[in-house]
Order: sequence, then C-alpha cells, then structure tokens
Amino acid sequence: MKLALVGIGKIARDQHVPALTASPDWDLAATVSRHGTVEGVEAFSDIAAMLEARPDIGTVSLCLPPVPRFEAAQAVLRAGRHLMLEKPPGATLAEVHVLRDMAAAQGVSLYATWHSRRAHGVARARAWLAGREIREGRVIWREDVRKWHPGQDWIFEAGGMGVFDPGINAASILTGILPRPLRLIAAEIEVPANRQAPIAARLEFDGNIRADLDFREEGPQVWDMEFATDGGHLALRNGGNKLEIDGKSVAGDDQVMGSEYAALYADMADLVRNGASDVDLAPMVLVADAFMLGRRITAPPFHF
Ligand code: NAP
Repeated sequence: MKLALVGIGKIARDQHVPALTASPDWDLAATVSRHGTVEGVEAFSDIAAMLEARPDIGTVSLCLPPVPRFEAAQAVLRAGRHLMLEKPPGATLAEVHVLRDMAAAQGVSLYATWHSRRAHGVARARAWLAGREIREGRVIWREDVRKWHPGQDWIFEAGGMGVFDPGINAASILTGILPRPLRLIAAEIEVPANRQAPIAARLEFDGNIRADLDFREEGPQVWDMEFATDGGHLALRNGGNKLEIDGKSVAGDDQVMGSEYAALYADMADLVRNGASDVDLAPMVLVADAFMLGRRITAPPFHF
C-alpha cells in the first residue's frame, strides 16, 4: 500500500523512514515537508498539492508537531485518505474528536498512535498486572531536553506540551497496562519564566500512584515505572522496553524505541485492511487534567 509521510524532521528520519523501508506492507511513495526530503522519494512542500497530484496514495502519516498537525489532518481526511498520527494526536482534545468524526463519516481509518504502548515489555506487563491489586506505583521520566529535542522551541510554546511531550508516553503506558481507569488528584507543574510549557511536573493519581517528569536530567536518562502489588513487584524500564518481575529481567532489553515503529506500521496496515480505527484519548486526558488541576511554579528561564 502506498503511503505519504508528512513533516520530515527528527522522528520521521529516526524512526518512520527506517520502519517504512523495512515494512512488508508499505511503500513510501511521497513526502511533504517545507525543507526535509527522503532520497529517492517524490517530494512535495504542500500537502494539498500532494493529495491532488497523487490520488494513488491511500494513506498519509503525519509527523508534524501537534499544533500545525490539525489542518493537515483535516485535509487528508477530506481527501478520503486513511490517516496515521504521531503522538500526541492533537493540540487539543476537541481536535481529535473532530478528526475521529470526520474519519467515520468518510469511511477511512484513523490511527492515533502511542509508540510507547508498542514497546517490548508493555503487553506482558498488562497481562501480569491484570489480576493483581496495585498497592503503589512510581513513574520516573527524566530526560535531557537538549539531547532529545535540540533547538525544538515549539515544545516550549503553548500547545507544545513541554515535559508532557515525553511524559505522555509514560501516560500512554500507564493507561495501557493498568487494570482500572486512572484519575489525577493533584499536580505541580514547573514552567520556565521565559516559556509557555512546563519543564517539569509531579503528578499524583488515585491508588497511590505518583509520577516525576523532568526535562533537566543531565545524568543517566530514566524512563521507568515500578509497581508494588499483592503478588510481587513489576518494573518497566527504558520507556517500556525492558520488563522486570521481582527484580529479574523477563522481557526486552536496553534498546529504547527498538521496534516500536515497525509495530505501529503493522497496526496501521491491519486497521486499513479491516476498515477500522484506533483512537484512544486516555493519555491525553491525563495531561489535560494536569494542566487544569496543576499548581504552577515558575522555574528559572530556559535556553537551548
Ligand atoms: P520536529 O523535527 O521539530 O518537526 C518535524 C517536522 O515538522 C519539521 O522538520 C518540519 O518540517 C515540520 N514542522 C515543524 N514545525 C512546523 C510548523 N509550525 N508548521 C509546519 N511544519 C512544521 O519534531 P519531531 O521531534 O520529529 O516531533 C514531531 C512529532 O513526533 C511530535 O508530536 C513528537 O511528540 C513526536 N515524537 C517525537 C519523538 C522524538 O524523539 N523527537 C519521538 C516520538 C514521537 P519542514 O520544516 O521540512 O516542513
């Protein structure tokens, strides 16, 4: 099946292009980007022009940051093409409701991806937690924004989500593996004096679950969560890619984002073949609630 990739930046180059090149399902037939291109692939700089020139391309995958993504997403659905969205699926919840309704009306597939849910340890963690009572949960998501998002000023603008850009990956795993819905009860968010979006956040959920998110971690990078249950201890490390039960490694490895994007594109192929959509907003609801409920603390100015 032919696919166009839109927004040729960091994640498109690091993950989407290699996953598409290796995919048995997809042929990367065009790109749309103002600056970026992929060697050997027809390049457009305008999405409307691509949709008009290439009616043979049935699916479009958007790798733009969340704020500029909605207009492109609407154009794709209006043109009757299947649509795959990077996380987070929109800058607001209402945007994603609109896209879901448009996809249903057009009879096309919409996939709001959560790449961390396709990390190696996540499905087994869900199965292991299913029959257990969780007594305590701790999420630590601490990374260096200068290393992972170099110069990406959009991330600190309104709608860029700040530390919730990686933090929503933790939320996608949490909402994917816990045997019950999660409810935020308190939050503190630290916003640099010269920015609009948080650089750190501490969240508290019902059931004794806490999260510590920070974009200022210059030491070892940590994307871990741990749960104490009535039937043992579970830890998911490396962004969900390594699973430990009672201190012993049982699945995955130290590779971050190993085969997540291959799995996402296989999911998308299944959705298109089955005429289905997958749009789960639970991770975004947690982030929206943190913005609604969080106490704001002003942090020192941040410069890349
Ligand atoms: P990025 O490199 O800053 O942006 C991707 C591309 O989008 C840019 O190269 C640019 O291409 C286009 N773009 C940027 N701002 C735009 C604007 N205002 N209007 C129109 N086009 C614009 O970002 P990224 O790191 O790839 O992240 C993109 C999405 O992927 C985000 O939602 C992020 O959460 C998600 N993601 C990122 C990572 C990561 O490690 N970076 C991991 C997983 C998911 P042109 O200038 O060529 O048009």
